[in-house]
Amino acid sequence: MTHLPGPIAPPPRLLMGPGPISAYPSVLTAMSAPLVGQYDPFMTATMTETQELYRRVWRTRNDATVLVDGTSRAGIEAVMVSLIRPGDRVLVPIFGRFGHLLAEIAERALAEVHTIETEWGQVFPDAVIEEAVERVRPTLLALVQGDTSTTMNQPLAGIGEICARHGVLFYTDATASLGGNPFEADGWGLDAATAGLQKCLGGPSGSAPVTLSDRAVEIIRSRKRIEAGIREEGDEAASDFIRSNYFDLGMILDYWGPRRLNHHTEATSMLYGARECARLLLEEGVDNVLARHERAGAAMLAGVQGLGLVVFGDVAHKMTNVVAVEIPDGVVGDAVRSDLLEDFGIEIGTSFGPLHGRVWRIGTMGYNAREDAVLTTLAALEAVLRRHGVAVPAGGGVEVATDVFRGAGEAVWTAHA
Ligand SMILES: *Cc1c(COP(=O)(O)O)cnc(C)c1O
Repeated sequence: MTHLPGPIAPPPRLLMGPGPISAYPSVLTAMSAPLVGQYDPFMTATMTETQELYRRVWRTRNDATVLVDGTSRAGIEAVMVSLIRPGDRVLVPIFGRFGHLLAEIAERALAEVHTIETEWGQVFPDAVIEEAVERVRPTLLALVQGDTSTTMNQPLAGIGEICARHGVLFYTDATASLGGNPFEADGWGLDAATAGLQKCLGGPSGSAPVTLSDRAVEIIRSRKRIEAGIREEGDEAASDFIRSNYFDLGMILDYWGPRRLNHHTEATSMLYGARECARLLLEEGVDNVLARHERAGAAMLAGVQGLGLVVFGDVAHKMTNVVAVEIPDGVVGDAVRSDLLEDFGIEIGTSFGPLHGRVWRIGTMGYNAREDAVLTTLAALEAVLRRHGVAVPAGGGVEVATDVFRGAGEAVWTAHA
């Protein structure tokens, strides 16, 4: 007889890394609701309702507000392959790992990709982006809002106006930041924005909310349709059709729109989960949720500083929901992480690229932007650090973090738009 594994039974975990994070319990409950058929009136009504909820999350009137089935990069890829014509110039300002991802995906979409880079731990001043826009003259500017690899939150409020002045489409990846930091799709002049559920929205990965301006939709609609049968080499139009079926936003919009043209089978359980993420955010109130992230983030920041640890990067521009902490000299970062996981059931994050082995990343997002989650993590970190020979002040982290929650501590920083 071959061994048959038992039903899935994950260990209890407090996910305090840069994402994925522990989902809100009601999101998991929503995802276990019974399935209905693809064109059941309940299903189509739920899709329409979810679109309306996400318009309020994105703060947009964009009719074209949908979910792409897949993780966050499914949303990124859908926007890129649908908006970029081969040979289009795309400008990607890179301030962390996800900027490199946008550049790579734009490259795969056959764009002529131009990048500018800033040091990890910094953001771009508007003037630097405008100078690059004037020099490159791109059709599309692709800019990450919050890059979890460095924890930085790129200010976007002034960028839309620059793009409008130069006739450039403006796209942002807000996966890490949406729902925990201010976001204004219409107010900031965005043509496209994408996200995922597994950061501040407090769900599992697997659904990518996307919103598109009318101008973006017009471009997508103007592209040749594959059904037109334009396939011959050298045919002018042959380079124009969208090179993906799954990520063809024209077809995805037709599926979500009033005509409900058959495309993929909408991932029902992910739809339920995404709907509940947005519903919870709006029920608590966007401003209240942002304030909760700001408070939890400030408490975690004050707490790690209270333990004598050094925070990485331009703290004035960090996201509310994640902090990068320099690993003290002589400490093996991964050994501390594994003790936290095995002894306390707490996960914190490692890092990539230039920060690999240099910092831990600790998140306070979604369901876990909570006092007990912050204090438990700080208490456990203190105990583990002491065991690894770091002279940490007893109770220092928990005490100052508690002060922040009680309103007695310094509001160490305020979130930037
Ligand atoms: C976490 C994150 C992603 C994640 O992409 P997945 O496909 O969901 O793994 C994408 N973009 C940014 C900016 C992120 O922080």
